[in-house]
Formats: sequence, structure tokens, C-alpha cells
Amino acid sequence: MTVRKIVSSLNRMLRQRSQPVSLEDRTIGALVKDMLDTMYAAGGVGLAAVQIGVLKQVIVVDLPGGDPLGPQIFINPEIIEASGEQAVFREGCLSLPGVMVNVKRPTHVHVRYRSLDGRACEIMAHGLLAICLQHEIDHLNGVLITDHVSPEEF
Ligand code: ZN
Repeated sequence: MTVRKIVSSLNRMLRQRSQPVSLEDRTIGALVKDMLDTMYAAGGVGLAAVQIGVLKQVIVVDLPGGDPLGPQIFINPEIIEASGEQAVFREGCLSLPGVMVNVKRPTHVHVRYRSLDGRACEIMAHGLLAICLQHEIDHLNGVLITDHVSPEEF
């Protein structure tokens, strides 16, 4: 098990776009394992690869009371449709310790991604999973929760 250092918001890497993962990339299994170890050690429910310093489009999610099969892995995730309905949720981020901000997001998102074994998958996410996926996909695009709030509120 390898718990890696989480990249803080002071690091410019968090502002870079992550690159799509190719099907030939054999390093993703080990990367995912490190991401899960790091996320659990930090007590988080979601992590993007850039948060441990790897600019690849990989996300791990493990929500309390979530998928009974365990953690969910999303490779090259993209939102292909989002609901018009939006809701505000108070979000934190492992890269911004102690910061909590209200973020307004669509309540439902349709996400296309690849599984760890390379299968093309889609998911209609709602509730906490929808919030978490949007938060982590933001990371893949160099976006942080503090970008979603007005300066007055922050
Ligand atoms: Zn985050």
C-alpha cells in the first residue's frame, strides 16, 4: 500500500488539464491502488489522479452507503448531459484542507467513462455521486471548488 502526498491548491499542477488515458497504459492499475490508499488515509470520498501529482484522467469514488461492490473507478470520464435542475451542496476538497464552500451544480449528470478493464460505460448519477463526479471531473479540467463561488462568499 502506498499513501501518496496530496497536492495542495498552492501547487500550479492542480490548474492543469489531465490527459486522456490510452487503452495501452499499463500503469493505471497501480495508480488506482495508490489513489484509493491515499483517499482512505485522508478520509475522503473521492480523488482525482492530479491530486497525487499524476495528470491523467482517472477518478476514484467511494461514497458512504454507496456502491456495495466497493470503490468506483472512472477512466476518461466526461459529462455528456447535465440536468437543468440545480442544487447547492457544501463541499470540501482534500487539496484545500479546512475549506468548505457552497457549490451549485446540476442534480443529475450522465457520465461516459471507461472501466479499469477498458470497457466503455455510462452512468446516470444523482445525489452525492453526481456531486462527487462533477467535483472530480472539475479537477481533471484544472477547476477547484473555490472557482464556483463569488469572492464575497469565499
Ligand atoms: Zn477536490
